[in-house]
Amino acid sequence: MSLFVGATRRVALIIEEMHLPNKISHKYPIVDKDLCIGCGNCHGCCPAEPNVFEIKFDTERGEEKSCVVAPEACIECELCVTQCPVQAINLTGPD
Ligand code: SF4
Ligand code: SF4
Repeated sequence: MSLFVGATRRVALIIEEMHLPNKISHKYPIVDKDLCIGCGNCHGCCPAEPNVFEIKFDTERGEEKSCVVAPEACIECELCVTQCPVQAINLTGPD
C-alpha cells in the first residue's frame, strides 16, 4: 500500500513539475542532470526566497543532483549560471 502511495505522490510531483513552468511569465533555470555534479553552488548562491534549487539524491543516477523546485521564485539574476562549475544551468522562458 505504501509503495502505491509513494508512486502516486511521485506521479503527482512529475505532473506538477511539467505544468508549473507554463504558469511562469519570466525566465527560470533548467539543469542538465547529465552535467551536474551536485556541488550545491547553485543552491548556495541563489538569493531567491524560497530558494529555487534543492540538492537531491537521484536514485536513477546514484548521486546527488540539483533540482529546480521553485522556478516561480527566480529573479533572473543569473548567479547560478555563473557559479556552476560545469555549465549545467541555463535560463529559459519568456524574454
Ligand atoms: S537566476 Fe538567480 S534567482 Fe534565478 S535561480 Fe539562478 S540564482 Fe536563483
Ligand atoms: S552548481 Fe551546477 S554542478 Fe553544482 S549542483 Fe548546481 S547545477 Fe549541479
